[in-house]
Amino acid sequence: MSTFNGRLQNPELNFIAIDDFKPNNHDASVFFVSHAHSDHLEGFGKYGGTLFDSNSNKTLYCSSITKRLLTVKFPNIQVDSNVVSIDVGEPCILHSPRKNSDGTSPLITVSALPTLHVLGSVMFLFECQDITALYTGDFRIHNASDVSKMKWLHDKDGKPLKITDLYLDTTFADKLYNWFPKRDDATAKIIELSEEWLDRSLNHHVSLSIVAYYGYERLIMDVSKKLNTKLLVNVDDFPHFKYISEMDGSVIFYSKSSSYRETKRPRIDSNNRSGRIHVCFCRRKGVKRCDFCSNSSYKVREVKPCAFSFNLKPYDHANIISEKTENGYTNYKVAYATHCSLTELRCFINYLKPTNIHPSVVPDSNSAEQIVALLLDNAFELNNSFDVNNCSDPSHTETENESDTSDALSLESPPI
Ligand SMILES: [Zn+2]
Ligand SMILES: [Zn+2]
Repeated sequence: MSTFNGRLQNPELNFIAIDDFKPNNHDASVFFVSHAHSDHLEGFGKYGGTLFDSNSNKTLYCSSITKRLLTVKFPNIQVDSNVVSIDVGEPCILHSPRKNSDGTSPLITVSALPTLHVLGSVMFLFECQDITALYTGDFRIHNASDVSKMKWLHDKDGKPLKITDLYLDTTFADKLYNWFPKRDDATAKIIELSEEWLDRSLNHHVSLSIVAYYGYERLIMDVSKKLNTKLLVNVDDFPHFKYISEMDGSVIFYSKSSSYRETKRPRIDSNNRSGRIHVCFCRRKGVKRCDFCSNSSYKVREVKPCAFSFNLKPYDHANIISEKTENGYTNYKVAYATHCSLTELRCFINYLKPTNIHPSVVPDSNSAEQIVALLLDNAFELNNSFDVNNCSDPSHTETENESDTSDALSLESPPI
């Protein structure tokens, strides 16, 4: 949960506010949103309409997918021409309201870079005079090889940019979260658990249990593609999916008012999986069980991607799933993280060697100084037997240079 207050500490960039629209930031003239998670849209629902209406002289920059999601999430707010979508790798130039001694305005170059956190999420690189500040927003990047693929973080000779200020997503900067498997590995495990269950009989169903309104879209697309069937989605739970055209081939919508079963019998696909795997919101505390999970004639296996309940040592592939038996069925959690583990954060910092680190997530139990000390603790590698200069997984058969994972590709091309 982001605790960033919206302002970069560099005075040269003080006219900019990021991911926070509360009144203390209304004196900013330019705003940025890294992605559409609610902790990065503080105050937008209340103030966004007036801050960015057509009479306003304020501008908000975000990715095109985030702009689309804002219109779905806040239907009462006209996301007007003052909300500008920017593309990955296409820098925009801002004029600072401060004046140089010759009366000219300093120019600030801003680039949006991929983060692999959720669909449409970006980080922002601000470059001006002596300042190179990187605000990561939320991000998941695995190792030095991944960072080296991000050409925007390198100068024309291929050397890493000298980052003066790194505003870092420290959600998992904690010894509890030393390591998470790559998302491709977690996705493969989710597919394996689902396929094994679906193949038992036509009465076997899978509940892909999602606890967040937004953030698992790519997982859903990957599961659909690999299992060769569309996943059922209650449009009342996930209305924004309708506006993400990239998901059209992966999901079938139904609604509470007209249940899927009543309105439409599933067409049997070639592998008999139609209508037998649904994206489920119902296991969230206090939410009524969905039509599928509560149907006593179905045998339902819950498969739940999550990160918080795992405490893994680096490369501990044997323990990336946990199981629990409920009502006679074994349900599974799979370690699936959309933020960097502590190990990945240390690799990122070791590669870029920023001058200053500003944690963006500081829980009450910790101080920013303690988090930075943990990120820079030299004893960490010794205790966890990994090489911070590389961070590649020794047990992984694929070499980093041969990597053709969708994660790696997304770093080299704009996110969809
Ligand atoms: Zn997020
Ligand atoms: Zn369900």
